[in-house]
Order: sequence, then C-alpha cells, then structure tokens
Amino acid sequence: MVGGCFSVLGIVTFEAGRHIGRTMEEGSLGLNQILMIAGLVLLTVNGLLSLPLGAFLILWYISILFLDTTGYLERWNCTRVLGIILMIRTNKGKDAADFIARPRRFWRIFGEGSIWLCFAVMLFLIFGITASAISTAVEPAQQEVLPATDILFIPGVTSFVPIFWPILALIVAVVVHEYGHGLMARAHGMRIRSFGILVAGIIPVGAFYEPDQEEMRIAPQRDRLRMFAAGPSVNIVMTYFVVILLAVVSSGLTAKQDGVYAVGIVEGSGADEAGLLPYELISEIDGVAIATGDDLTGILNQHDSGDLITMLVSSNPIHGDVVFREVDVTLTDKKSYYYQLCDGDSQCESNVDGAGIEEGDAFLGVSGIRSADSAARVYGLPISEDLSFGERFVQTAISPLLFSGVPIQNQGQTMVLEERAFLGAGTGILPSLLGIDVILGLFDFLFWIMWISFLLGVANLIPLIPFDGGHMVRNAGHIIAKIVLPKSNPLKIERIADQISGYSSLFVLALVLIPILLPRFF
Ligand SMILES: [Zn+2]
Repeated sequence: MVGGCFSVLGIVTFEAGRHIGRTMEEGSLGLNQILMIAGLVLLTVNGLLSLPLGAFLILWYISILFLDTTGYLERWNCTRVLGIILMIRTNKGKDAADFIARPRRFWRIFGEGSIWLCFAVMLFLIFGITASAISTAVEPAQQEVLPATDILFIPGVTSFVPIFWPILALIVAVVVHEYGHGLMARAHGMRIRSFGILVAGIIPVGAFYEPDQEEMRIAPQRDRLRMFAAGPSVNIVMTYFVVILLAVVSSGLTAKQDGVYAVGIVEGSGADEAGLLPYELISEIDGVAIATGDDLTGILNQHDSGDLITMLVSSNPIHGDVVFREVDVTLTDKKSYYYQLCDGDSQCESNVDGAGIEEGDAFLGVSGIRSADSAARVYGLPISEDLSFGERFVQTAISPLLFSGVPIQNQGQTMVLEERAFLGAGTGILPSLLGIDVILGLFDFLFWIMWISFLLGVANLIPLIPFDGGHMVRNAGHIIAKIVLPKSNPLKIERIADQISGYSSLFVLALVLIPILLPRFF
C-alpha cells in the first residue's frame, strides 16, 4: 500500500488505510479494549493524567468504542485509530483544492523544487541525528537522561502554561501540511478521496489526507515523490513566510520605558552589595539616561574602581507594582575580578591583559546586559535597516533554528516574562490602534506557527517509514534502481526499493534510539 499522510501531534505520520482500528468483533469487549482502559486508569492513578482528563478519556474511549461496534462511525464516515483517536472525514476543501491546483505548471515546478529542498533538509537531519548518536555512544555517561515527559514534548501536557496559541498553530500547521500533499496530488491528476481531522475527545491532535489508493499506485514515481515532498516543503515555506510576518509584528513593539537590565548579577560585586537584582531596569546613572548596553559601558569607562555611582532603578516588572528607587553602587576593580576568575592560571591572566583590561578599570558586576526592547528586537532583525541585505538573509535563514529552544527554556512561554512586561505598543498608527495585548497575541500566534510548522516539516522528513521522508527514500530508491538496472523487471525493482527503504529505516531508527536509550543503561 502506498498510503497518504497523517500528522498526529505534529510529529507522527501513518500510512492511510481504510480500516485501521476496526479489529474487534461486534458487541464484545476484546482484550485490547480492556488493556486500553486499564492503561488509561493506570496513567490517571499514577498522576500522569489529571483526574478529570483521565476520566474524560476513559468515557470518550468507551463512547467511540460503542459507536464503532454499533456501526455508527462507519455511517458517519469516521474511523477509530490507535484506540482513542477518531478520524473525521470531510468533503470540505476538495473543491478549493481543485481550484488552487489549477495552475498545474506552477505546482509541478513547486513540486520539483520541493523534492530538492526536502532531500537537502533530510541530509541535515541525518547529519544531526548521526552526530547526536555518535556523541552519546562515545560518552554515554556525559549525557543527561531526559525525563520521559521531555521526550514526549507536547504543548499543554508537559509543563506548558499557555495552550491556546500552540493548539491553534498546530491545527494551522497540520492542515497546511496535509493540504500541501492534496494539492500536489491534484496538480498531478490524482484524485483526493478525503481530507479530515483527528480528534482525541474534543482535542484536535492532527489532520490527514487520503489519496485514491489505485491512482497513487499507478502514478509515476516522480509524481509520487513530489506529492510526498509537498507536505513538508509547504510547512518549511510557510515557516519562512511567518518569520517575515513575525519581524513586521515585532516592529510594532517597543520598550515601555528605556533602560537596560542584567540577566545575572556577579556575587560580591558592587551591584550585588547595593542590592541590584536581575531584571531590574536601570534607566539613569547619575542623572544620565541609559537606553542601550553601549550607554552603560560608556558611563562605566568614564569611572575608576572605587567610584560611587547612583542608578535609577525600577523593580522587577512581574513582581507586583513597579517601584522606582535609587541604588548607590561602589564600583570595584575589573582586573582583580577577572584575575580572581583565572585562579592563578598565567595563560588566562595574560588573556585578560591582552583584552586591554587595566588596573583601576571600573566593574559594576552585571552580566547579560540587554536593553528593555531586546525581546522584540531579535525577532525584527530579518527586516532591520541596521543590517545589510546579506546579514538579513542569513538572519532570516537561521531564525527557525535560533528560536527553536525558546519555549523549552521558558516553560512554554514565547519570551521571558520579565522581558515581555518591558514591552509596549509602538508609536505608529497601527500599533497604537491595536494595543499591546493584540500585538502580543498576534506575536504568540505567529511564533507558534513558525515553531510548529518548522518542527512538523523537518520531523516528517526523517527517512523512516511511515514518515514522508521514508516514503521519499523509497520512491527515490525506485527511480535510482530503474536507472542502474534498466533491463530488470518491475517486480525486482520494487523489491530492491523496498529493501533500500527497509534497511535505511532500520538504520535511522537505531540512530534515533541511541541518544534516548543508551544513557539509561550506562
Ligand atoms: Zn506528510
């Protein structure tokens, strides 16, 4: 079976089949069903599922099980998959797909480009997976054992606070992914049997596209290759489109009040002794306004160690009302601080001397100095006028990777909450009309689309059946086998392609499992 594409929870894909999950006999409760319910109960008792969620899922499971055995699901054109997930088919979107697929030449060129893009991303992905497998295999004990909840990183389930935007973005990303497959199939004359969504209870967990199996089977390999490449590539194209939109939205954000803050305070330093805390906004020093890190450095350069400066500081913006206070800091010696870090290492000490740090240089004792609008500014770089065209291009290209760790570092937030609290609506007509809440909402939505769409596109390119990447390797193997062995019969070529994809799938699976499993045993 050739199969279409399912995207579940943004990551997993399955081959489409008409009757997945319809395994039980009419009216009787099979062993699998009992195990499923027992499993849900166990997860709830162990606290992995909250009590209302566990109860709800059990109720949901029993309900769809009942509807399945009584034949209602089939009548409603739905199928139960993986036990608790319901596939809801729809005819909506087919006419629109017919219409959008009409410029066939355009879609064929897009499909051809998608193949190259996808294989390029796949190479990077294999490189990354191999590197991580090797580094774990070399030093398994050095690797941290990730808790299982972090491997199953699911917004809203694992330590995630705001769930609305990630869920909405996930729906957009998976629908676009499936629509990409469907459009490409249509543009190559294959019919779409149905589109649809996958739900677990009321929670949408994915979408799918069902091709016409017979037409898929007889389609040329190259057309199928384009069809499989279209889903991930539409996601990747959308990611970059959104990176630019995110830059535009970020330009509508500015600092509520100019100033700089430190992410860290050096213990025992002047700033520490004076009681300065991280994320407190320094807006003035000795009456001079400070807006950037350079302003701060400029003032410190005019001082010597032992000098007393007075800073105007406002309190952490997310801990109650913002209060202003004056903080007197006695500056300490920069050179002796760095020498102390060197701990007698003469190479280190000569590096400090080489950096031009002299005795008597003033040291405040703060690290990670950022200006109040920094959280928004980093996203605006792709359209920033301060950068050259080349720099903007590079910034745009690496943005999805650069920000991929953001929600993981910030417990599911798109920004550090303090940094977010420093931001206000910009002075333009549109920003002041929309207001800060709308702009930040828009920012969050776009951020999540960028994040999920990129992850979805790249993860589906893993060369492992049943992911899109696995199907692509199989089809490409077929094409290559035909070129290398032009006189072989089609059945033999089919078998070679299956072997190539089977072995490469096994190999990739092993590579993926090494970093997950190895640290647990050594
Ligand atoms: Zn797909």
